[in-house]
Amino acid sequence: MELFDVYPLYDITPIEALGSWLTDNNGQKYLDLYGGHAVISIGHSHPRYVERIGRQLQKIGFYSNSVQNPLQQRLADRLGSLSGCGDYRLFLCNSGAEANENALKLASFHTGHSRVIAFHNSFHGRTSAAVAATDNPGIVAPLNANHEVVFLPLNRPDLLEHELEKGGVCAVILEGIQGVGGLDSASPEFYGAASRLCDSHGAVLIADEVQCGFGRSGKFFAYQHSGARPGIISMAKGMGNGFPVGGILIREDIRASHGLLGTTFGGNHLACAAVTAVLEVIESEDLLAHARGMEAYFRERAGEIPAIREVKGKGLMLGLRFDFEVADLRKKLIFEHRIFTGSAKNKNLLRILPALNVQPEELDLLFAALKKELA
Ligand code: PLP
Repeated sequence: MELFDVYPLYDITPIEALGSWLTDNNGQKYLDLYGGHAVISIGHSHPRYVERIGRQLQKIGFYSNSVQNPLQQRLADRLGSLSGCGDYRLFLCNSGAEANENALKLASFHTGHSRVIAFHNSFHGRTSAAVAATDNPGIVAPLNANHEVVFLPLNRPDLLEHELEKGGVCAVILEGIQGVGGLDSASPEFYGAASRLCDSHGAVLIADEVQCGFGRSGKFFAYQHSGARPGIISMAKGMGNGFPVGGILIREDIRASHGLLGTTFGGNHLACAAVTAVLEVIESEDLLAHARGMEAYFRERAGEIPAIREVKGKGLMLGLRFDFEVADLRKKLIFEHRIFTGSAKNKNLLRILPALNVQPEELDLLFAALKKELA
């Protein structure tokens, strides 16, 4: 049987990984400054992570959400205290798109409305409402296109207010730092205004923290760089360090009822073990502070290279903007310097999404390679 060919592939086959390093089937090592697309938060195969998941698998890996699973509550308590969102409630699912799909559905149940406001260059996933709220018509099938979504420019509270005033809006969905779109950020003022405007117009602000959350921006959630208080916060990617898990945090004014949301696999025992290990490592290795320190170091080193026009993003969700398209440079980084980096919708942007415990010496390898290639 052939695989359904939807991914353009690099001819590289990683078979092992540790920390920020991948090893391929020829024994060649690669520095991973891409994190499998912002997924690797605490480093590949972190010993605490391997131990927690391994130990859990010896006991019980899965049972359905029809029985008690105390690991979910333990995870919720730890997540609540580390994120500062202890007064929210947690629903666990399996991916970023599913988290946003549930967030949008819940916002619609809660408000009784169906209009969604999203932003230019947004990416929220590939499922029904999530893809409809994604600013990329190329991945929206006719089946998905019937959702009522309005796209606005980022950081224009006047336009947001005007659109909310028309009524019928269930959700405003916003990435604190746009990932796929190219690292434009919602300003703290705009995030704060969006939060107030949603509350005053009875809409739910959904903070899409799938990529920028779980410490990547140097705060636990990227919206926490502002004074916003979202109605729903969606999470995935770094949450499981590669284990497929997602979730939403739900403010106390949005009510639960049995059957409102549900999933077979969400919150299973192995997923809980993975997320708990991630939270333990973020806390014990003080990775939020480390990410902020590494951002400062990265910006300092980037300042030594005149071809870098701008460093975009926050924490360890960073992008180097050049005044040329970076596809060839990225290929040279991978095939000559053995360094993985990421691309974006903005073709002049090289994305850097390393593990949150990346070391300065590892970032130095990128700058040495860039200096050589851009000389
Ligand atoms: N939201 C954001 C901000 C993302 O960057 C992504 C994936 O890149 C998603 C949602 C969708 O996540 P997933 O691929 O896990 O469905």
